[in-house]
Amino acid sequence: MQMWMGAAPRLCDLCRKRITNAFVDGRTYTGSVRGLPGGRWTCMCLGCHAKHGTGLGQANGQQYERREVPAENGPQGSGGVRLAWVKVQG
Ligand SMILES: [Zn+2]
Repeated sequence: MQMWMGAAPRLCDLCRKRITNAFVDGRTYTGSVRGLPGGRWTCMCLGCHAKHGTGLGQANGQQYERREVPAENGPQGSGGVRLAWVKVQG
């Protein structure tokens, strides 16, 4: 299981909507998208990825979802889970 390391994006880079449960770290088509140069690697919501992304896969993008995963060092009685961004596709 691969996880997103570091701080997850709070807003979609393209439409600026809040990212809640899923995002894609991926490439956009050549050509400017909302002021960002095309071909750029960016974090976007699933709607923007459907419109502007080049797809999923090693050279195109990875989709992450917020999921509960076992906590390695969680406090006793916490239920033993924490939320993490897990790679689900790509
Ligand atoms: Zn978006």
